[in-house]
Amino acid sequence: MSSTIEEQLAALEASGRLRGRRQLESPQGVHVTLDGRAVVNFSSNDYLGLANHPALRAAAHEAIDRWGVGAGSSRLVVGNTAVHDELEAEVASWLRRPAARLFGSGFAANTGVIPALVGAGDEVFSDELNHASIIDGCRLSRARVRVFGHRDVAHLEELLREPHTGRRLVVTESLFSMDGDRGDLEAITRLAHAHDALVLVDDAHAVGAFGAEGVGFAGADVDLVVGTFGKALGGYGAFIAGRRDAIDLMWNRARSLVFSTGLPPVVCAAAIAAIRLCRSSEGDAMRARLLQRVSEMGSDSQIAPVIAGDDRVVMRWTARLLEAGYFAQGIRPPTVPAGTARLRVSLSAAHSADDIAGFKRALTEARTE
Ligand SMILES: *Cc1c(COP(=O)(O)O)cnc(C)c1O
Repeated sequence: MSSTIEEQLAALEASGRLRGRRQLESPQGVHVTLDGRAVVNFSSNDYLGLANHPALRAAAHEAIDRWGVGAGSSRLVVGNTAVHDELEAEVASWLRRPAARLFGSGFAANTGVIPALVGAGDEVFSDELNHASIIDGCRLSRARVRVFGHRDVAHLEELLREPHTGRRLVVTESLFSMDGDRGDLEAITRLAHAHDALVLVDDAHAVGAFGAEGVGFAGADVDLVVGTFGKALGGYGAFIAGRRDAIDLMWNRARSLVFSTGLPPVVCAAAIAAIRLCRSSEGDAMRARLLQRVSEMGSDSQIAPVIAGDDRVVMRWTARLLEAGYFAQGIRPPTVPAGTARLRVSLSAAHSADDIAGFKRALTEARTE
């Protein structure tokens, strides 16, 4: 790994793994303009279609008029406003947890929260397919990282049974971001508590999208839950919710909170509007529509992976789908394990039945050409 920057870029290019980007020329949604082409979007995490929702836009306008744009400093210095406090109270009330704390993003939450909870001499147990931000949080913590097989509760138990001295934390996603499958949170929590471990669940893809009022999948037994406002909630930023002592510790120990500028008040105001929408009957209707689209797709969740295996094959599928007017991004290593390149098809409550039917036809053609 002593290659120069130029050599690294050339090697990425040669292996077909050089990352690029497209340009979105319309607001986020299911019918978008991407690089000048009108397409039906099957790649965003805007699962309810809130990113451009009138209620969020109105809340944001109002907050800009009241507060301006930036928070100006860490919340611990002079960047804390009533909107930040109100959003934390809203999250705690929504998820029926004693307390909640905001973070700049889900990535910042995981890299801040995990090192705040465990350190050198402790252990952290992590599902092998956990998100990059969890992996980095585990590494930053300097705790001993015990990786258990994907959703493998028996393996987790084997590791937990080993003798230990320090603190212990089990961390898992609820709905896995690249596979759309679910961990058995009840079994994991039971095991963890029987073996002196706290449980942290990353509910990034479930908050807003599943459960009564969109509370996600982390049940009351789970000690701490991380969620993001960047996906089903249509905005940006993130939170941790749970035991008040752990939440209070974050002010003192979570470096990505302490040493980082507070979220812009406008972003908090949009998140408050998103949560209120999620808790309303309109939110129920959105989630019912999302489930309907999931069943039309023949998938288990709104994340429907279509495995190609080969990196180049998946990029060809993406190109052919684009020609047919559909966008589904090919996902390659290191985002997913080598040999499992895939389309990560994501569904939205804003898709129509025709969008799904048309996409399925185009996908069949793209795969058989
Ligand atoms: C997207 C994602 C994150 C990061 O959240 P952001 O708010 O986008 O930074 C964290 N964990 C999981 C499981 C995710 O899918």
